[in-house]
Amino acid sequence: MQIYNTLTKRKEEFKSIEPSKITMYVCGPTVYDYFHIGNARTFIMTDVIRRYFGYKGYDVTYAMNLTDVDDKIIKKSNEEGITPDDVADKFIDAFFEDIEKLKVKKANIYPKATKHMGDIIKLIKDLEDKGFAYNVDGNVFYNVKKFEGYGKLSGKNVDDLLSGARIEINNEKDNPLDFALWKKAKDGEPSWDSPWGKGRPGWHIECSAMSMKHLGETIDIHAGGNDLVFPHHENEIAQSEACTSKQFVNYWMHFGFLNIKDEKMSKSLGNFFTARDILKQYSAEVIRLFLCQTHYAGPLNFSEEGLKSTENGLKKITLLAEEVLKGLDNSEGVKPEFDFDSLYASFETAMDDDFNSSRGVAVIFDFVKAVNKVIAENENISPEFFEKAKLFLEKTAVGVFGILDFNSISISSGGSLENELVELFIKMRTDAKTEKNWALADKIRDELKEIGIELKDSKTGTTFKKI
Ligand code: AMP
Ligand code: ZN
Repeated sequence: MQIYNTLTKRKEEFKSIEPSKITMYVCGPTVYDYFHIGNARTFIMTDVIRRYFGYKGYDVTYAMNLTDVDDKIIKKSNEEGITPDDVADKFIDAFFEDIEKLKVKKANIYPKATKHMGDIIKLIKDLEDKGFAYNVDGNVFYNVKKFEGYGKLSGKNVDDLLSGARIEINNEKDNPLDFALWKKAKDGEPSWDSPWGKGRPGWHIECSAMSMKHLGETIDIHAGGNDLVFPHHENEIAQSEACTSKQFVNYWMHFGFLNIKDEKMSKSLGNFFTARDILKQYSAEVIRLFLCQTHYAGPLNFSEEGLKSTENGLKKITLLAEEVLKGLDNSEGVKPEFDFDSLYASFETAMDDDFNSSRGVAVIFDFVKAVNKVIAENENISPEFFEKAKLFLEKTAVGVFGILDFNSISISSGGSLENELVELFIKMRTDAKTEKNWALADKIRDELKEIGIELKDSKTGTTFKKI
């Protein structure tokens, strides 16, 4: 497998630290508002990468941090007259609701900055003891000149940065590029006790502390949007490597921006759509396919037209999936020649090449075309063929991209009131099972059978047929 590594600026053969295991850390949201569809690109493409590692048989331990103490949270709390904790709690709940609707699989760990003050303070103290940090009246700064490798990720040079452009004037710092590890408390702001007095951590140190605590001093993959290469990730390297003298991350991955008219979608520019608003009009599958059609590292323009044409394209996949589900009920038939292996191989070749999802998606469309041809050319096809076709879709479209959901297909294929009612009973039975109300779940299944409807449970959900 090849992965483009921002650190070495080339595609590299991927080799995990431990065989078959991967540690991955992704910079998550600052929880002061609903996230926008640009943030969603980072969350969804990370999800696709993580799912593909699963497809390849890796056991991934994935952490996404939640920045729950920050200037923007404090600003929002002042505007709304609620505590910063309440702001963070509200938008953490909203974050989980939205990623679930987007069918993003949950990370293994969602570390929060406020729950890691001990680890953060310990790390800053260590940097101070080793001479990389200095305290100016309760503010602690990192001395970038002390870290030899500063600039190695972003390709920036400290002297160029110093002589270049506008750098904030701050008389407290030895060097304008030095950044805050610990910020002295201000009135009315959340603060914690520390060896330097009351205060709160800088943003960069949170990620160093939480990544090393949960995943180890050296991890396989660290990812985030392109905007994080400098200074955030550059500073994370400086902090972590100064402390451990070990490589912090083996592969740095960065996601291209989701743009609106070629300009980065961002809260500050006001050119954003929240994911929850887009989800009112388009399914998670449409949104995910729209994003997967472009390689994760390149820019992508967001537009209504783009989503609409994706929706039309997706219909080709869902219509075929309906045919496949119907074909499973065939009693017998011909066994057509079909090279599933070469389609799996093409899919893997695409995805092994730095997660080329646009080519991976194209393989799924090729598959749809080929299966449709088989269906058109044969009167009666064996259910085994459809089993294999379903498995292909389950592994790729459902499992890796999350652009197909067999559960919602039986709903759309029905359309009639009768079918909708059966779907309603299926949903009630699923809920009953979730609540461990087995008696009710069995009653629903048995009563439906009485009236000639048989339910069939599988890993991807429940379908029904008339008997
Ligand atoms: P934030 O909440 O702004 O810290 O962002 C959360 C994650 O979304 C980070 O990994 C950012 O790099 C990423 N991100 C922010 N804006 C965009 C965008 N327009 N396109 C892609 N990723 C983004
Ligand atoms: Zn981070």
